[in-house]
Amino acid sequence: MADVYNWQLGRTMQYPYEEKHPRWQFAFVFNANRCIGCQTCSMACKSTWTFSKGQEYMWWNNVESKPYGGYPQFWDVKILKMLDEAHKQAGLSAAWEGSQKDGARRPYGVYNGMTIFEAAVKRYGPDGHKRAIGYIPTDAEWRAPNIYEDTSTGYEPGPMGFAKEGVSLPEHKTWFFHLQRICNHCTYPACLAACPRKALYKRPEDGIVLIDQSRCRGYRMCVEACPYKKSMYRATTRVSEKCVACYPRIEGKDPLSGGVPMETRCMAACVGKIRLQGLVKINEDGSWAEDRSHPLYYLVKVEKVALPLYPQFGTEPNGYYIPPRWVPRPYLRQMFGPGVDDAIAKYLAPPREMLAVLQLFRTTQKMIFRYAIEEGPKIFETQINGKPWAMYNDTIIGFDKTGKEAVRVTVEEPVYERPKERPNSI
Ligand code: SF4
Ligand code: SF4
Ligand code: SF4
Repeated sequence: MADVYNWQLGRTMQYPYEEKHPRWQFAFVFNANRCIGCQTCSMACKSTWTFSKGQEYMWWNNVESKPYGGYPQFWDVKILKMLDEAHKQAGLSAAWEGSQKDGARRPYGVYNGMTIFEAAVKRYGPDGHKRAIGYIPTDAEWRAPNIYEDTSTGYEPGPMGFAKEGVSLPEHKTWFFHLQRICNHCTYPACLAACPRKALYKRPEDGIVLIDQSRCRGYRMCVEACPYKKSMYRATTRVSEKCVACYPRIEGKDPLSGGVPMETRCMAACVGKIRLQGLVKINEDGSWAEDRSHPLYYLVKVEKVALPLYPQFGTEPNGYYIPPRWVPRPYLRQMFGPGVDDAIAKYLAPPREMLAVLQLFRTTQKMIFRYAIEEGPKIFETQINGKPWAMYNDTIIGFDKTGKEAVRVTVEEPVYERPKERPNSI
């Protein structure tokens, strides 16, 4: 095991391979507040990549309703329980030390518990046969991706079937939310760490994690080790498969792209406009190169409004979520770490620049590498949590990899009135 630095945990951790980082990293932000659970993203992926024999139960993109839903069923409850048991056996606690925040190196403080890799060292030894704790889901658990869809907690209906009490912020007593999931193309992938055939690799040009189908022998060690359960076994070919990050689009090979990187199929299809995807520049030490006007850098590193999913697993996932604001905080802190309270406070009263950046979600299929803002007039003012807050109709412009304008959008959605001579468009 080598010592590698994981900035999401604010410390070095043990990982089977030495640190080596790509030049760019595929990353994305999902705004969980906006998802309507329509599954258009899931269908976009399925109709592109997993429509063949043996892939019937394979959903590289899935959207599950939390807290009860999961694909495979109960994936996060199971791995959290395993990690919890490992801590109990070792007499350790898995707490975060929030007072040790320090800029980009420790934005959320320090995680003092064990990761899935460290728990494996504890249980099997440093040269043990398992590189991460995990499990292989049963066929039944993979079978129904939408079980518990739209099922809320604690619903107590009155005589007419309606809830007796309404709900109000900051936390709803009756709640659910949609969690959108694809492979996180992790910085320290557990799938890659576990594979005895070295069939998995992380591309140096964009950090995408792929499985070499000719090397894979279907041992399912990656399926067992991935804590997010995003590596899947295909019985017809007897090898494992996973999200390929639509790499031809990232490479600008899609005929639609005009040669510049494009968003993936699941991102580009999102009806709720909850997804923003990009490539972030990575320094040699694995940190994100400072890039103030890159939308992902701004949301993740500057405002810290988007947070990693279960950072405590230790894979340094490259998917980030703006947490749903109505959900009880202890649940969210377990899922997204200790940055949740600050992130929600930011999202509830977004700074002027952030409100403009949030408009970029799903406005172009081209990947945005830089944005610029043209200031507009004040159009609304109010008080949020006793503090004055104002909205400005700024215009945000997104630029593609070549620096060409890809999109221009205002904070206030423009209204177009149909001329009188054309009362309808048919
Ligand atoms: S999410 Fe899972 S499959 Fe994807 S890179 Fe991370 S460990 Fe591997
Ligand atoms: S990035 Fe591409 S391959 Fe991956 S889940 Fe989305 S559509 Fe599927
Ligand atoms: S397409 Fe967008 S809004 Fe619809 S389920 Fe997927 S992530 Fe949510």
